[in-house]
Amino acid sequence: MAPWLTDWRGKYHGQAAAMLSPVSTDEVAEIVRLCAAEGAAIVPQGGNSGMVGGATPDASGHQLLLSLRRMNRIRSIDAAARTAVAEAGVVLENFHHAALDVGLRFPLTLGGKGSATIGGLVSTNAGGTQVLRHGTMRALVAGIEAVLPEGSIFDGLAPLKKDNRGYDLRHLLCGAEGTLGIVTAACLHLIPANAARQTAWVGLKSPEAALALLRKLDDGVGDALEGFEIVPKSSLDAVLRHIPQTRAPLANPAPWNALIELAGDDEGALAVPLEATLAAALDAGLIDDVALAKNERESEDFWKLRDSISEAERAEGPALQHDVSVPVDLMPRFIADNPARLAAEFPGVRTTSFGHLGDGNIHHHVQPPAGVDGQAWLAQHGAALSRAVYSHVIELGGSISAEHGIGQMKRDILAELDSPARLHALRAVKAGLDPAGLFNPGKLIG
Ligand SMILES: Cc1cc2nc3c(=O)[nH]c(=O)nc-3n(C[C@H](O)[C@H](O)[C@H](O)COP(=O)(O)OP(=O)(O)OC[C@H]3O[C@@H](n4cnc5c(N)ncnc54)[C@H](O)[C@@H]3O)c2cc1C
Repeated sequence: MAPWLTDWRGKYHGQAAAMLSPVSTDEVAEIVRLCAAEGAAIVPQGGNSGMVGGATPDASGHQLLLSLRRMNRIRSIDAAARTAVAEAGVVLENFHHAALDVGLRFPLTLGGKGSATIGGLVSTNAGGTQVLRHGTMRALVAGIEAVLPEGSIFDGLAPLKKDNRGYDLRHLLCGAEGTLGIVTAACLHLIPANAARQTAWVGLKSPEAALALLRKLDDGVGDALEGFEIVPKSSLDAVLRHIPQTRAPLANPAPWNALIELAGDDEGALAVPLEATLAAALDAGLIDDVALAKNERESEDFWKLRDSISEAERAEGPALQHDVSVPVDLMPRFIADNPARLAAEFPGVRTTSFGHLGDGNIHHHVQPPAGVDGQAWLAQHGAALSRAVYSHVIELGGSISAEHGIGQMKRDILAELDSPARLHALRAVKAGLDPAGLFNPGKLIG
């Protein structure tokens, strides 16, 4: 069980009485009923790629790990209706391939696609790099099948466009982090496979310039804009240092970079407005340099740089990760002000901000001052430092978790900083559906 008792970042280590790996929804229901009768707590787990310790059991050794990985069948793909029903344990990358095999695409992707499962993606309402155009997991879920805490099977797989029977259980289960139900399968929306895409890597001076470029692209290329990610020089340097077979796209390093992706039916219809918009931005001095991917291979190389940042930063040593959102227009201000605010209180800390600028969501990582024992420093100052980051986010009307969820990592800070009204509602829903508190206790609000 060892690999499944520690989270992907190696921050949380738990114990479990046993790991159970059912192969069917009926087996999951049977397990849940037995656990309800015995008062045994269940920790659901998919690919164990989550970032907040949500799938790691506690240290008691009394909890049961419920791995959904063996439920890995794609039950059906309806190419005409553009939907597919996938079991919880289907790995995202495999799902992408299955959709492509019938000329379709599942428009959600992220760096952990080789591990993350459909059940985990639903349960964390995952985002990724195409949210700008296609939304988070919740927008792509047409139906859900789940086992509820008393052992009943909720069959909500039918892809109903209209359904006003009160509270939407599908939406409640999206982002519930295994605290309300065990997701056993999901019906997911697909779109036509890309006939063409255009990928550009742009060097620029600041997040303000990146936001101004994003606005120009909104006007210039419209709906075709699918991804807009920002990468500071420090993150790109970390990738080039630690990840094999990577190289800088621009001859002259820029303080900031933007990775831009357009997708559509026709190469020319994408390339013409993209090149015109970037040329105008160059002329206006908004951007310093640009590299356009000449083929699929170069597009993938650009994305590899972006997708490897988490891995590269992990290799750089200990850091505190904050996955936060603020209204898009305020993001440059947050990125500029936060390091200064932190440096005043915690001299010497080093910050990087990268990610989904177009969604108002960045990953804000803070490393301890150079030359100190990083782990010891974080143990002493980490909680206060994160509180300072989150307080700033809340001042700007933002969220302390944009896409990774709450898990065990942010449970206490959520309870401290979230509004009383939201906390009351979250706790009431949890108590109503799982009164014995056996589904993923200690996570989110439990
Ligand atoms: C390199 C890398 C990049 C990443 N990039 C992104 C990104 O851009 N955007 C993003 O949103 N996330 C990202 N992630 C985080 C992670 O991939 C997502 O959170 C993903 O949704 C987790 O899926 P999983 O199957 O690994 O879930 P796990 O880690 O196994 O579990 C996550 C949570 O869901 C619960 N859970 C799992 N399966 C079920 C189920 N069947 N029923 C009920 N509850 C369940 C668990 O109890 C836990 O609370 C990244 C991760 C890595 C490693």
